[in-house]
Amino acid sequence: MPADAYLARRLRPFTTTIFATMSELATTTGSVNLGQGFPDADGPEELREVAVAAIREGRNQYPPGNGIPELRRAVAAHQRTWYGLELDPETEVLVTVGATEAIAATLLSLCEPGDEVVMFEPTYDSYAACCAMAGARPRLVRLHPPDWSFDPDELAAAAASPRAKLVLLNSPHNPTGKVFSAHELGQVAALCRAHDLLAVTDEVYEHLVFDGTHVALATLPGMRDRTLSISSGGKTFSFTGWKVGWVSAPAPLVAAVRAAKQFLTYTSPAPFQLAIAHGLGLPPDVLHRFAKELAAKRDLLCDGLAGLGYEVYRPAATYFATTDIGPVAPGLSGHDYCLALPGRCGVVAIPSAVFYDPADPAAGRTLVRWAFCKRDGVLRDALARLASWSP
Ligand code: PMP
Ligand code: GLN
Repeated sequence: MPADAYLARRLRPFTTTIFATMSELATTTGSVNLGQGFPDADGPEELREVAVAAIREGRNQYPPGNGIPELRRAVAAHQRTWYGLELDPETEVLVTVGATEAIAATLLSLCEPGDEVVMFEPTYDSYAACCAMAGARPRLVRLHPPDWSFDPDELAAAAASPRAKLVLLNSPHNPTGKVFSAHELGQVAALCRAHDLLAVTDEVYEHLVFDGTHVALATLPGMRDRTLSISSGGKTFSFTGWKVGWVSAPAPLVAAVRAAKQFLTYTSPAPFQLAIAHGLGLPPDVLHRFAKELAAKRDLLCDGLAGLGYEVYRPAATYFATTDIGPVAPGLSGHDYCLALPGRCGVVAIPSAVFYDPADPAAGRTLVRWAFCKRDGVLRDALARLASWSP
């Protein structure tokens, strides 16, 4: 029976995520997994201890639906410390099951069927699926390598569409590693104001920036009142399996998202919320140190791939580097290359075409995304294996 035999039509393009497919392939072939973005070393021991202690001390029943007070206060303090944003932790912060649920609940609660969601392509994979669940339509604005710039007229046309409801902005950006500049964010903000659009920001990589500075869109003039800022503890603290995320926004917007969230999961696991609250209170240098360590891994992988002949678009942030495989695998699509790679070299990567509109098969055809959030020895091993690739 086909995998989508029972699946509602609107979800048929989304049967299995590329991350699940590729992680399974890595396991079955014994390959080095540079596909799905998760670190192979856990985050700070002291955070694990907080979670363990919370379980032992009995924080094991439903916490409040909008999140435990410790974490809501920690998120508010984080937004003040890093961005100068003042939030009421009682009404302007909602804890979710990872950023994934925050994105889903936001789109489900804010969009009417037929509304358009303006977003930059390539897009993180859950955006199109969440639009489909909400009955909304992605309105894509293309980012162009090597610097992943966009055409401001294309953005302006998307924002001016009569059905445009909101801009969903991911910066720092997965898969490209782009950090949107203050100037680019100013263009986004001006269009939101001009067309009375809401903005939803996905900032899960806010602390994994190597070059440039992450600017929160909510800090731009006129944006505090129309922006829902989403983040999560998974990437910042190297605990992607804990799935603690949050959204912060003016109270009426948080109330809207809470209406959807309460019927998706109601609440998020209590012990992990406490541990992430503790993490958000760590001194800023700890987070700077994580980013510095990750920058060295970026360099290790990017220098190695460039040495092997790949065209490398060195990321300014995140866990991921994008390459064009054209020089190394002439004529091959990224998809075919990624399917062949585990068998031929014992390495798994992600074909970037999955982050583009499937209606445009040429888009991102020869691009491949590699995760470098791995131990140095693992990255070196992957590079040594890749050296055996021959076209
Ligand atoms: N947004 C982006 C851009 C991501 O890369 C990811 C993957 N971590 C998520 C959202 C989901 O985050 P979480 O694991 O907190 O649900
Ligand atoms: N965000 C991770 C990535 O881009 C994957 C998370 C997931 O598997 N949904 O690799």
